[in-house]
Amino acid sequence: MSASDSVVSAKKVSKFFTGFQALKDIDLNVAKGETIVVCGPSGSGKSTLIRCLNALEQHQSGELVVCGIELTSSRQSIDAVRRRTGMVFQNFNLFPHMTVIENCMIAPMKVKGMSRDEARATAERFLKRVHIPEQADKYPAQLSGGQQQRVAIARALSMSPDVMLFDEPTSALDPEMVREVLDTMVELAKEGSTMICVTHEMNFARQVADRVIFMDRGTIVESGAPEAFFANPQTDRAREFLAQIL
Ligand code: ADP
Ligand code: MG
Repeated sequence: MSASDSVVSAKKVSKFFTGFQALKDIDLNVAKGETIVVCGPSGSGKSTLIRCLNALEQHQSGELVVCGIELTSSRQSIDAVRRRTGMVFQNFNLFPHMTVIENCMIAPMKVKGMSRDEARATAERFLKRVHIPEQADKYPAQLSGGQQQRVAIARALSMSPDVMLFDEPTSALDPEMVREVLDTMVELAKEGSTMICVTHEMNFARQVADRVIFMDRGTIVESGAPEAFFANPQTDRAREFLAQIL
């Protein structure tokens, strides 16, 4: 893998919360175009890992390079990496006082300096891509959870990120809305987007993941192709986890 194809390069990355180690010597490489699924028990460090990748959390030791930017505590590296990564949260985190299209226009205008017209055209394109162009002028509260999450995906895409980060994007949804969000994510993966998805949707993993990473207690315990991971997990911890969720 050449350096320019590398979207994430983590070497011995550790993260502590006041005396507690949430990430322990994480080594991870993600290449352009890959779809990675991260799974593992609650509290295993999945969110912390993904939040370190866009500097919502700062790691304390090891080396972390995301989209070619070495993450340090400098404001510069934090701003640079946030411009290049798109994040989708469990609880959508849309701005409630803005319409759907305004939610998608704000970052391209403020961060990228796009004109209002250009930002509107970009937002419309991505709302089409997630199949809700007709919701553009509504407020988040007027939408279903599945629609809100698709707005959150469109909002992230509007910044043309090098990598999309998803943290349990379907966990807060009613069951009948999970499919529409997963379908959108499958489309993105098939179009070649680079994606790192914390999810327990194992059918999604089977369908599009290049690799499944299993975390437990702050470490990456297993990493492999989905077929191999599901058919033949290498550790008791992974076997127990799969027995619980499948
Ligand atoms: P997961 O997403 O796999 O459920 P997290 O990454 O959220 O796990 O959390 C990993 C561990 O770090 C947990 O034990 C959690 O309690 C702890 N943790 C996460 N965020 C904080 C924080 N801001 N302060 C203190 N501890 C935290
Ligand atoms: Mg989490």
